Amino acid sequence: MTKYIFVTGGVVSSIGKGLTSASIGMLLEARGLTVRMQKLDPYINVDPGTMSPYQHGEVYVLDDGSETDLDLGHYERFTNGPLTRDSNYTTGQIYLQVIEKERKGAFLGKTVQVIPHITDEIKSVIRKVADSGVDVVITEIGGTVGDIESLPFLEAIRQFPISVGRENCLYIHLTLLPYLKSAGELKTKPTQHSVGQLRQIGIQPDILICRTEQPMSREERDKIALFCNLRPEAVIEERDKDFSIYEVPLSLVANGLDEQICDRLHLPSQAPDLEPLNDILHRLRNPQHEISIAVVGKYAEHKDAYKSIYEALDHAGIHHRAQIRISRIQSSDIEAEGPECLLSGHDGILIPGGFGERGIEGKVQAIRFAREKGIPLFGICLGMQCAVIEFARHVIGLKDAHSTEFDKDTPHPVICLLDEQREITHLGGTMRLGSQPARLLPGSRAHRAYGTEAIDERHRHRYEFNNVFRQQFEAHGMVFSGTSPDGGLVEIVELPDHPWFVAVQFHPEFKSKPTKAQPLFRDFVEAAIERRKRRHDAAQASRITTGQQAT
Ligand code: GLN
Repeated sequence: MTKYIFVTGGVVSSIGKGLTSASIGMLLEARGLTVRMQKLDPYINVDPGTMSPYQHGEVYVLDDGSETDLDLGHYERFTNGPLTRDSNYTTGQIYLQVIEKERKGAFLGKTVQVIPHITDEIKSVIRKVADSGVDVVITEIGGTVGDIESLPFLEAIRQFPISVGRENCLYIHLTLLPYLKSAGELKTKPTQHSVGQLRQIGIQPDILICRTEQPMSREERDKIALFCNLRPEAVIEERDKDFSIYEVPLSLVANGLDEQICDRLHLPSQAPDLEPLNDILHRLRNPQHEISIAVVGKYAEHKDAYKSIYEALDHAGIHHRAQIRISRIQSSDIEAEGPECLLSGHDGILIPGGFGERGIEGKVQAIRFAREKGIPLFGICLGMQCAVIEFARHVIGLKDAHSTEFDKDTPHPVICLLDEQREITHLGGTMRLGSQPARLLPGSRAHRAYGTEAIDERHRHRYEFNNVFRQQFEAHGMVFSGTSPDGGLVEIVELPDHPWFVAVQFHPEFKSKPTKAQPLFRDFVEAAIERRKRRHDAAQASRITTGQQAT
């Protein structure tokens, strides 16, 4: 019998519900259980694919091509169960499905209502992820208790135990305990109100996880337990972790969360295997190298816009035991201040994906700087397209080369629209999306990184390298080291004469894990470490020749 865990959030948004849910999944897997993760988002957009990164952070793409919430990235990095289209539903999608059924006459002329039709649809998408052999489904409800739009979701999870049994369901509520400096204490009232609101809806949480900056005292825990109708051991502290997100699951174990969950759901009580987590933290705490990487993007100031890229860099750092300082650089600032001023001093430059014209010239300048100075460069999606534009303009001499995304009338359209994309007017789920196979050129840097000739990586783009220019690029030294299996689409370009210059049309960041760094990120970081060493050695040598003491 599959068990169902529902995670809700209270008091404020952004208290790390995604990370906490992913940590719960990780801990249950560490106890040998099979887990499936799911996120239900109360907003009306059908998916986050058309939402601005300012609003929503990165769009996380799954193998099956669905464009999902970035919390699914946490789930995939922390757990091993497959994620699919069914792992993320929004209010928009739920309503769309119900309305489509209504148009087909599926409700036999009845009045279609939030209860039962919308709530039935929500319950059915929760059940969909419980394949045979799945021990636990963890469904996170986006938003905060008290929001009008989360009501149908909360009502659906209230009803859920009626069909599967209350003993097979667990409600976990994550809240914030604000610390008031003037009073010198943690405040429990907002938590009491939030749980009160849940109880009004008919949900009594089984476990309360309290996000807090300061330690929660025994008295505070007992007080919360009393007001929220819980046993004190079901009130779990989740203190802020400044050092690393991998401390979160460990602190939850220390506070007894996984034990409580297994106890309440009558799951086997074997101890979790925490070795992989401890190893990650050991590596992070004992770095042997220190490097700095510049990520030059359009949304650099937004910490979630390139979330998976930052995480994948961290994974490569864990692999090499390198502490990575990431500078988030706004590409439009490079246009204003020049690459020298913002980029020198970095050991590697990464150009992420993106859409729209703002900051494109800054990215092209950054790539030129990296190419000419021999700084390791990693281009991803739009980053690859900019690398192609830069090469065309400054190496081949095609002065006004561009992508037709930004200049429809360019005389040298080195990046242009895929044939199948020309007719599309409808936004949302219409790009080249999801996992696609590619073939690597034997002996290339990409091939050496992956150690295989056949790879699958996730995509999200409309534009492509224009094959009309292929020979010209090859004649000037660019190597097309990855293509679609039929050779028709360019997937990877590299410059063999450069210390490390690789740019890819896909998004390798989506498949990186803390325990298994993505091969290209791994090798990019290795190249950055090498560059740092060379610079350090050169500085030492010059100090010696000028008679100074080497340090
Ligand atoms: N805007 C480019 C395209 O559509 C790149 C997309 C991306 O970087 N994800 O092809």
